[in-house]
Amino acid sequence: MAQKYELRQMNQPKPNPFDNALEQLRIAAEYLKLDEGLHQMLASPKRQLTVSLPVKMDNGSIHVFTGYRVQYNDARGPFKGGIRYHPNVSLDEVKALSAWMTWKTSVANIPYGGAKGGIICDPKHMSQGELERMTRRYAAAIAPLIGPYKDIPAPDVYTNAQIMAWIVDTYSTLEGYMTPGVVTGKPISLGGSLGRDKATGRGAVFCTVEAAKVNKIDLKKATFAVQGYGNAGSFFAEILQTYGAKMMGASDSRGAIASKTPMDADKLIAYKAKTGSVVGFPGSQPISDKELLQMDVDILSPAALENSILPDTAKGIKAKIITECANGPTTPESDKILHANKVFMIPDILANSGGVIVSYLEWVQNLERIGWSEAEVNDMLEKKITGAFHDVHAASLKHGTDMRTAAMIVGVGRVAEAVKTLGTFP
Ligand code: NAD
Repeated sequence: MAQKYELRQMNQPKPNPFDNALEQLRIAAEYLKLDEGLHQMLASPKRQLTVSLPVKMDNGSIHVFTGYRVQYNDARGPFKGGIRYHPNVSLDEVKALSAWMTWKTSVANIPYGGAKGGIICDPKHMSQGELERMTRRYAAAIAPLIGPYKDIPAPDVYTNAQIMAWIVDTYSTLEGYMTPGVVTGKPISLGGSLGRDKATGRGAVFCTVEAAKVNKIDLKKATFAVQGYGNAGSFFAEILQTYGAKMMGASDSRGAIASKTPMDADKLIAYKAKTGSVVGFPGSQPISDKELLQMDVDILSPAALENSILPDTAKGIKAKIITECANGPTTPESDKILHANKVFMIPDILANSGGVIVSYLEWVQNLERIGWSEAEVNDMLEKKITGAFHDVHAASLKHGTDMRTAAMIVGVGRVAEAVKTLGTFP
């Protein structure tokens, strides 16, 4: 039964993520009464680079991978955004993610613009050597566009601190001096920040804590489920359970599980590290992805990929709060359904901004040649993201909108102001 559903899901046409991003922008532009020229400027990425990456594979053959870097907008500061390795990467996906990064850095009120990168590849079926050669070739190909004052990449889906280290080394070799500030999400030994690995999950928890207060939900009695038990999702679960909330369901690319008794987030992290999946966790039962998303829990976190909450699923969601650790999991159509059903949405550009906030703190430490303790970093993260939550919540009350529209009003509004103030060259 579960498998049949999953196959149907895979065959369903998914909306183009960039169309979703433009639709969200259009709604915000209406509220902000942006004139058509300014709206068009905000709907157009500033620069889009496509690169071909010939890589020597372990069997001696050459495979040419395609990579992208989209620099969306830098009116508020240097471009900033992660790099994704996935077979389904496309230019439209990277464009959408770069637009969301632009609004996200603006909502978080950190001095960055937005960008994103990606390579069409299947890292699960590549050796470390192949991954390193592909990464270095990509770093060399995008080197003219990146730099600590131009564009600062970071990890995203299926990229990590080691991959960032190879980018630092390649870029620094080309530049002729060590440049750790060219990427964030680095290993600690190369200038990475303490607290960066868990920052996205931790930030999402800080937002959830505020949302629970607003919705009068006692976290000690609350239950939750996580779709996509990776970096963002598993640390979200680990930290949320320290507030007393109980995890009843989780999933990854291999399947979903539920349990009648709360599951320990740390034990599930260890189980997935050992077996490669959450599936089969002792005491759990397998369920379908749709059943997971529609579980009777207080808090649901989609923490996998875009378009996971399609309208058909949205109709049956019972959670009172959705914390979007993932980027773009909810389509605009599903948003309408969830809003009508009074689900309190903490939208991606707010909920998962902890990652880029601590990336910013890492970059400041690199540029200033200083180092903060993990407690100091977590403290600054809490202040920044809690402030952003309340800016967005205040906008939602002022304009009478759902939280996503409010986040877009805040994020797009600040970028629009900067673009307008800069003027149009020439
Ligand atoms: P990750 O690779 O560490 O984890 C992704 C997880 O999702 C994996 O466990 C994978 O098995 C699972 N997954 C993939 N397809 C799935 C499916 N169809 N159903 C259920 N699970 C599936 O990646 P991550 O860094 O945790 O990123 C996850 C999401 O969070 C992405 O949308 C990313 O853009 C967003 N995000 C991550 C960060 C960060 O700092 N890591 C920051 C901001 C946003």
